[in-house]
Amino acid sequence: MPNRAFAIFVWLLYLAAHTEAQVASTTAAPPSAPVTTVIRAGKFIDVETGKVLANQVIVVRDKKIVSVGEGDTAIPNGAMMIDLSHMTVMPGLIDCHTHLVGDATDTDPVSELRKTSAVRAFESIPNAKVTLLAGFTTVRDVGTYRALVDVALRDAIARGDVIGPRMFVAGAYITITGGGGALNGVAPDITLPWDLRFGVADGPDEVRQRVRALEANGVDLIKVIATGAFLSHGSIPSTDDFTYDEIRAAVEEAGKKGLRVAAHAHGADGIKNAVRAGVASIEHGTFIDDEGLRMMKEHGTYLVADIYDDECISTGINGMPADFQAKQGAETQRQNFKKAVLLGVKIAFGTDASVCPHGTNAKQFAYQVKYGQTPMQAIQSATINAATLIGKPEEFGSIAPGKYADIIAVSGDVLADVRVLEHVAFVMKEGKIYKQ
Ligand SMILES: [Zn+2]
Repeated sequence: MPNRAFAIFVWLLYLAAHTEAQVASTTAAPPSAPVTTVIRAGKFIDVETGKVLANQVIVVRDKKIVSVGEGDTAIPNGAMMIDLSHMTVMPGLIDCHTHLVGDATDTDPVSELRKTSAVRAFESIPNAKVTLLAGFTTVRDVGTYRALVDVALRDAIARGDVIGPRMFVAGAYITITGGGGALNGVAPDITLPWDLRFGVADGPDEVRQRVRALEANGVDLIKVIATGAFLSHGSIPSTDDFTYDEIRAAVEEAGKKGLRVAAHAHGADGIKNAVRAGVASIEHGTFIDDEGLRMMKEHGTYLVADIYDDECISTGINGMPADFQAKQGAETQRQNFKKAVLLGVKIAFGTDASVCPHGTNAKQFAYQVKYGQTPMQAIQSATINAATLIGKPEEFGSIAPGKYADIIAVSGDVLADVRVLEHVAFVMKEGKIYKQ
């Protein structure tokens, strides 16, 4: 009976629609009212002007800063108050050179083969957490041997599944065969799994192809290993790895998608090749010469120099093998950092965390001050300058309306003794308090 069948069909349709509506109405949460938090700051470091202000009130709604002003600013009804009137309040810190995934001190290929990418991912969870709790609300994470684990960690943090800093990730190292970012020391008849050789490229065409493959997998920046590395067996730090043409290919290809290139470079010639090719930053810069420094200033290239971490290499506190400890360069790098500061080269803070234990990143501030920066310049290198290098100064890097509420606080006079940054007492990231 077609009529009866039609009636049943209509009834079923009605039932389906009605049930769906009921489910929807029971599961949809009522729209939550925006959470407003008001922070009273005793001292306030304005990293954009380089001034310290007194008695400021910061209003935060959900993830963003709404206003910053004098103490008598109208305070919204029902706001949660946080009294930091006895503390110094400043923007969340940014480390532009971390490796949250993997262990930079252990480049024995066999160790890398003993661990799956899943093991590496779970191991990175505490690294992310201690970094955030040390006051670093953003990191630029510049490479992992197990490709793309950093992309997964970034996304897990962004979803709120893992506690950690906001991450900008490179996905892998783009490096020559046998280069400073390759997993060296494996017998030639062993084929490494794809994710342990993801960034190996020789010649401009292969470099372009690797950049495209990384972009297709959602990276935020490209990391090229322009010269040899200290922490890689058989690699010579002062020697070029990539040619100018290869680095230029990376810069051009990355630029098409709006991505920047960070160049690991120790040797003087490799640094100049990378600067000429248009990279955004020189990482390490150990053996830079005067010409290289002048070129960096002229091109506006950032120097990201890990001038603290030799304390962990030469003392072996993170378990460094002897051949790594034997590669000297720390004092040269520190003196060259000082020259860069005097010349006015742009500096962004980066520690190579993983060489030293995660969460001790702030120990580098005292070294940047010892080697020529004022405490304010050192703070700016890890806030507004770092945000500018990453390309997001409108989103974070200072405490200003419209930016993410990434806010930390310390006790004591940070401009008299920058080491107070080693003991951050309050951490807020995107309006959420992680340490108080
Ligand atoms: Zn590094």
